[in-house]
Amino acid sequence: MTRHIQPRDDLRSLDGYHSPQLDVSVRLNTNESPFAPPVAFTEAWTAAISARDYHRYPSRAATELRTAIGAAFATTSDRVFAANGSNEVLQTLLLTYGGSGRSALVFEPTYALHAHIARLTATEVVESERRDDFTIDATHAVERIERYRPAITFVCSPNNPTGTVEPRATVESMLEAVRAVDGLLVVDEAYGDFADWSATELVGEEHPLVVVRTYSKVWSLAGLRLGYCIGPTWAIAELDKVVLPYHLSIEKQLAGVLALDFGADMATRVAHIVEERNRVVTALESLAGITVFPSGANFVLFRVHGDGHAVWQAMVERGVLVRDFSRWPRVEDCLRVTIGTRAENDEMLAALRAALEEVGVR
Ligand SMILES: *Cc1c(COP(=O)(O)O)cnc(C)c1O
Repeated sequence: MTRHIQPRDDLRSLDGYHSPQLDVSVRLNTNESPFAPPVAFTEAWTAAISARDYHRYPSRAATELRTAIGAAFATTSDRVFAANGSNEVLQTLLLTYGGSGRSALVFEPTYALHAHIARLTATEVVESERRDDFTIDATHAVERIERYRPAITFVCSPNNPTGTVEPRATVESMLEAVRAVDGLLVVDEAYGDFADWSATELVGEEHPLVVVRTYSKVWSLAGLRLGYCIGPTWAIAELDKVVLPYHLSIEKQLAGVLALDFGADMATRVAHIVEERNRVVTALESLAGITVFPSGANFVLFRVHGDGHAVWQAMVERGVLVRDFSRWPRVEDCLRVTIGTRAENDEMLAALRAALEEVGVR
């Protein structure tokens, strides 16, 4: 055996991120938009790209992009930070406010990357529980914040993988508790456009609150890798010190600005996906052998009354890939389906019906 250097001690037991990228005809496993970006956007973007100078670094402050995002939230560029996907925003938040001797509080089951990136940055992870219906119990959450005094408290709403939307009152109570322990509340709204309210409404200088969003889901730009957050100027200024200089390419900054001209198209798509989601939920609820959880996002989680993994496998064999959570704690035997086009959703429902029959459920 060849000897070689080992990674940091605290990283040895970590697993990488798992989500198989299989080559099947219907891919409903990573919550992307089923629609390509508008053609007019792609044309405007390509034209803009070819007019730029690539021997020069991109704008380090990404001012045009931040101003455009800020305008979309009726705020200013100094309350906006952008990075390569919202995962890099989360990483920058943890590099800035987490680290050794500090902790991050998460409410499981939730987006695995919050705890994973916390561990990568040597931030201790404190796991708390959601209720059986996957909502957060505000009283319990406040008690946890007071007890553990985490540097960062994460709330994902709508929550991935459950679809749960937290009421405004819960977020407000948690924000009060976080302020009292001098922490930071990070609300991950990757699916915020599908929900009926947004924590961006609460952002202000006096609130230790940062709301994270992305172009990956609603904006049909998962391949672009662009995310951002809205927060108080004092937090945004700290993030700017930590992130690598020139981290956003010229193409990316241009795309982020130009995409925002297509807000009306995006609103139409969101409405269409929500309508499809409601249709899929009704169809799922009519199936015997599964329990469907309410969703305010572009995906739906359901529990198989039987071997969830076998059902997932039987769906893959029929050319339909969904996300397998069957062996995750708290979501045992659960599968998550992204809402696709009408045709894709129908294929998914047919594959699920056949799989449930083949595997056998209670
Ligand atoms: C998909 C997703 C993200 C997106 O990450 P990007 O890096 O912006 O693609 C962030 N948070 C949650 C909860 C997600 O589901």
